[in-house]
Amino acid sequence: MNKIKNILNKNNLSREDMKYIFKLEDKNQLQYLYDYAYQIKEKYVDKKVYFRGIVEFSNICEKDCYYCGIRKSNSNMDRYTMDEKEIIEAAQWAYENEYGSLVLQSGERTDNEYVEFVEELLKKIKSIGDGALGITLSLGEQSYDTYRRWYEAGAHRYLLRIETSSKRLYEKLHPSNHNFKSRFQCLQNLREIGYQVGTGVMIGLPYQKVGNMVDDVEFYRKFNIDMVGMGPYLKHMDTPLAKKVINFDEKKQLQLGLKIIALTRIVMKDINIAATTALQALNPVGRELGLKAGANVVMPNITDKKYREYYKLYENKPCIDEESKECRSCLKKRVESIGEKVGFNEWGDSPHYFKRISQKE
Ligand code: SF4
Repeated sequence: MNKIKNILNKNNLSREDMKYIFKLEDKNQLQYLYDYAYQIKEKYVDKKVYFRGIVEFSNICEKDCYYCGIRKSNSNMDRYTMDEKEIIEAAQWAYENEYGSLVLQSGERTDNEYVEFVEELLKKIKSIGDGALGITLSLGEQSYDTYRRWYEAGAHRYLLRIETSSKRLYEKLHPSNHNFKSRFQCLQNLREIGYQVGTGVMIGLPYQKVGNMVDDVEFYRKFNIDMVGMGPYLKHMDTPLAKKVINFDEKKQLQLGLKIIALTRIVMKDINIAATTALQALNPVGRELGLKAGANVVMPNITDKKYREYYKLYENKPCIDEESKECRSCLKKRVESIGEKVGFNEWGDSPHYFKRISQKE
C-alpha cells in the first residue's frame, strides 16, 4: 500500500510510476488510486456530471479502421443517415430535457454535400432556445476550412480521438492510406480555430505495450487537451482486428479503462473526462465506476431507437433498446446513486479550457 501512496504523493508522476500503475493488480492499491483520483475530481471539477446527448446520425464512413464495426468494408451492416428533421427533433428533445449539450457523431465523410448538410444543421440547432445547446462535433478528420465553417456555424467543441499516440501501433490498426500525422495536424487546426479540443485513445489493444499507454497519457499532457473520450478496446467480430485477439479478458479491459481515467485525472486535473459506454459494455455499472475513478461527463444516446443497432462500433453496446427518456431517468438515478448531481441546462465546459485561454491572452 505504501508504494502507491508514495507515488501519488509526488507532484509529477514519472514514466516508471505510470508503468507501475498500469501493471497494478492489487485491489487495495487500485481502490486507493481511484479514490485519490476522485478527490482530485471533486476539488477541480466538482461532484457534478454533465450530460451530452449524443446523436449518431450516420454510419456511413469513408475510412476502414481495422477495429471498427462501421468501417467501410463491413458489408454486414445496413447503412443509414438520419434526415435533418429527425436530427433536429433529437436536438429539441435534448433542449426540452435540460441536457445543456449535444454531441453530433457520424462515420467520416468529407464530400461537399455532407459538409454543407452539417453546416446547415448546426445553424438550425443553434436557433433552438436561442443558442441554448452547446454543440460538440465528433466527425473525424476534415479540412481546415470545413472545421472553420462548422465552428462559425455554432459548434464549439470537437472530439477527435487519436486512438493511440504510437505510430507503430497506429499503423497496425489502420490501412496504409490512413495517415497518423494528419490526425495530429487536425488537432492543431481545431485548436487554432478556437474549438475546445478533445481526443482519446483505446486501451487494452492487441500489440499495445505498457509504454504505449504511458505515452498516451503523456500525449494528453503535452498537447494540453481540454477533454478526453477514451475507453477500453472492445471487439467487433466483423473486423480484422478482432480476429487477432485470442484471449479477451473483460475484467482486465475494464480495469485498464478505469486506470487510464484515474491517471488522466491525476495528471490533467481540471479537464473533462467522459465515462464512455464502452465501460458499461464490460460491466453493468461500468460508467458509475468510471465516474468514481475521475470521469465527469456521460453521453446518453438520444438517437432514434430504430437506428441504434446500426451504429455498433463494437459488440454488446449497451442502451440500444431504451427510449431517450428511459436513458435520462436511468442515468440520472445512476449519477445520484454515487452521491453526485447532474449539471442540467449547463454546457459544462472544462475549467482547463478557460485557464488555457486566459494564459494565452
Ligand atoms: S473508427 Fe471512425 S473513421 Fe474509423 S471506420 Fe470507424 S467510424 Fe470510420
